[in-house]
Amino acid sequence: VSQAPLVVVSNRLPFILARGLDGRLERRQSAGGLVTAVAPVVIECKGTWVGWPGTYEMRPGEAIPESDAGDQAPTAGLKSSQVVAVNVAKDKFDAYYNGCCNGTFWPLFHSMPDRAVFKADTWNAYCEVNEEFAQNTLAALRATVAKLDAEGRVNVAPIVWVHDYQLLVAAASIRKAAEEEGLRFRLGFFLHIPFPSWDIMRLFPWDDQILQGMLACDVVGFHIEDYCLNFIDCCCRRLGCRVDRNQMMVELAGRTVHVKALPIGIPFERFVELAESAPKVLKTTEEKTILGVDRLDYTKGLVNRILAFELLLEKHPEHIEKVTLLQISVPSRTDVREYRQLKEEMDQLIGRVNGRFSRANWSPIRYIYGCVSQNQLAAFYRDSAVALVTPLRDGMNLVAKEYVACQIREPGVLILSPFAGAGGSMHEALVVNPYELDQVAETIHRALSMPLDERELRMTQLRRRERKNDVSRWLESFLDAMDGVNDETSLVG
Ligand code: UDP
Repeated sequence: VSQAPLVVVSNRLPFILARGLDGRLERRQSAGGLVTAVAPVVIECKGTWVGWPGTYEMRPGEAIPESDAGDQAPTAGLKSSQVVAVNVAKDKFDAYYNGCCNGTFWPLFHSMPDRAVFKADTWNAYCEVNEEFAQNTLAALRATVAKLDAEGRVNVAPIVWVHDYQLLVAAASIRKAAEEEGLRFRLGFFLHIPFPSWDIMRLFPWDDQILQGMLACDVVGFHIEDYCLNFIDCCCRRLGCRVDRNQMMVELAGRTVHVKALPIGIPFERFVELAESAPKVLKTTEEKTILGVDRLDYTKGLVNRILAFELLLEKHPEHIEKVTLLQISVPSRTDVREYRQLKEEMDQLIGRVNGRFSRANWSPIRYIYGCVSQNQLAAFYRDSAVALVTPLRDGMNLVAKEYVACQIREPGVLILSPFAGAGGSMHEALVVNPYELDQVAETIHRALSMPLDERELRMTQLRRRERKNDVSRWLESFLDAMDGVNDETSLVG
């Protein structure tokens, strides 16, 4: 059976558009694991991708450029006729994206409500931008259904797949209009960040609209079961929905919504290949590297991590001149005040720790504030003795999985926070509470002293699991869940 056409809706398109020197728009690649997995399927099923093009410079009616002849990216085969750019005025987009998405939902959904700003005007901008996404998606859906009809595939219902916290309410408009017009469709949603518990969610003044937006879908997917159960609980308590926690179903207005735990993976083999071919970048001395790789975000526990490393040097001075912490921090959301403050705090803290412990030929912390290439990243992963993945809260955390994939030589040790989604399945990692600084320091010490056979045992298991549950498995599971939509299982009746 050939795949029903997919209409993927995400905040960003799978490439960004920018104006070249000749004044023409060009595609610039942004190849994360998600794009690598989903783009080939969209190409294959002749689907569509709806999203923001990454620029405010598109003129009304201006065409999206085709990919260049030598384009190697996974989106190369995506024709411009398969891409819908949602253009939004800069001020409105700013209120939606920096204001509501990153100023409200990011901290709220990561259970850090004190950092969340609740404002009616940014929420209104959010709803308006979601509506623009919905209208663009409807146009794509109409065209898709018309094409299926023309091909005689009258029993095939296209799948509309909405992504993430930027588009929580878009599905409500899509369903309403599509039903009124008699279009056939299936509607799925996947949240790439955590879903908080009811006592956090209820702090948001318009929480009922969020829940209703998500429940407009047939399938709502989260990384782990905890997030599913939080969502079901909110539907029950806020909207009074009938729910089934065992079957993970919610009923609203006579429709049954299936809630699924679909933990995302990485393109495992791609990272293995990168690790095999990447040149050595770290010093070839006996010195061991402890690696941290994160966007500079307050959810990542970076301040705690540096403090824990300082404690390690204090309590176990034998590591002085023997280990370094290499922290890569990717600049992120620099338009939001909280993020600029965190940058300042990190700069000061790292300066203080380095000032305190540095020797003539050694500093405890090497700090890269910037983005590194995937190639270089693979080499860092491969050659680091320890990876420190200690977020305070994280939907999944792909860095933990990428580190494991790149351990193709002498195996290192993964230290992992239980508050990352990945913590729920990567059992062979050393799991440590990032708030408990002494314990983090002791765990780093333990990792640095771990015998080879124990490291091998743990890493073999970790690698086996991630290789099996890679990102294409995640995609298949989502599509399977969508195929189950028309099954008989229902709370209704
Ligand atoms: N990454 C990258 N370049 C860097 C640092 C990180 O491409 O310099 C990538 C990394 O490979 C990973 C992603 O950024 O795929 C981070 O994903 P994760 O789920 O860990 O965190 P998020 O940033 O999505 O919160």
